[in-house]
Amino acid sequence: MGEFDLIERYFKSAAKSSAGVDLGIGDDCALLAPAPGMQLAISSDMLVEGRHFLSTVSPEALGHKALAVNLSDLAACAAKPVAFTLALALPRLDEVWLAGFSKGLLDLAQEHGCALIGGDTTAGPLNICITVFGHVPTGQALVRSGAQAGDDIYVSGLPGQARLALEAFRGEISLNEKDFALTRQRMERPTPRVLLGLALRGLATSAIDVSDGLLGDFSHVLKASGVGAEINLNAIDSIALCADYMPARSQFDTKYLRKMVLSGGDDYELVFTAAASQREAIRSAALASQTLITHIGTVQTEHGLRLRETDGTLSQSEYVSFDHFKS
Ligand code: ADP
Ligand code: MG
Repeated sequence: MGEFDLIERYFKSAAKSSAGVDLGIGDDCALLAPAPGMQLAISSDMLVEGRHFLSTVSPEALGHKALAVNLSDLAACAAKPVAFTLALALPRLDEVWLAGFSKGLLDLAQEHGCALIGGDTTAGPLNICITVFGHVPTGQALVRSGAQAGDDIYVSGLPGQARLALEAFRGEISLNEKDFALTRQRMERPTPRVLLGLALRGLATSAIDVSDGLLGDFSHVLKASGVGAEINLNAIDSIALCADYMPARSQFDTKYLRKMVLSGGDDYELVFTAAASQREAIRSAALASQTLITHIGTVQTEHGLRLRETDGTLSQSEYVSFDHFKS
């Protein structure tokens, strides 16, 4: 099988088209046709073996994750996925791997109506680079610079679970079979919060997706917006103590779990801000998109990130600079 048969079999014939795509795989360029009044949102993410994924990951999960991390960027901008390109370096032509990878990739693509419209295929160390294209009505993209003093801060889902799986893989902690399977699923098959992002159009004032850790990523929003924030540790504890977080969590102290929630990366949850007057509308947006959200703090004029302890005292965040967490 040559390069062109490979593209035909695993990517072209399995790919679905979508509205907004005039020409897909097979020519020198693909052609996109954004509707009038729409901006094209574009983002790329590269996944490198050993750095962004472990060699133990199944090809199907890898295909899912490679697209999921890109869709997550569209979600953070409130853009609707339209299409993506795939640049792939493969060490060898392994049909079992290709079948699994393209299934994981294209199943998620189909779920989001996002068409594979082109790419490049070459021999080399395993490397996956995807560029996604999405639509957002002009001026409605959520950006990092929009947070205002007084806004509420929210996070979606249960951040930190992906990091727990990585810690278990590295032998730093041991998890029972059930918790390992649960957290591993979060690490290997993250859910891009596309529906939530779309529901937040016109409501949220800023958003970012969490790839490196909640506080670290949210601090980019604070910097871009020229504001500071207070994070409520009661709310952080409520995430870690929620029954779905990890059933056997009693083996870990609160501090460790807080660290997971606040600094663990690879979750692809959204952190976003919205005016306090929009609380009801934000609840409805979360309900409509069937996404758990937690109100975790408040944007403030004073720069920096402060943590409100459960006894009411304030401390400077030690988690932001917790950088042995950064891989
Ligand atoms: P060119 O040499 O003109 O760049 P290629 O011969 O590399 O084109 O690719 C042929 C067609 O297949 C192009 O339309 C390209 O976008 C598409 N393609 C190549 N690799 C992939 C891939 N991994 N996934 C999807 N489409 C691909
Ligand atoms: Mg080429």
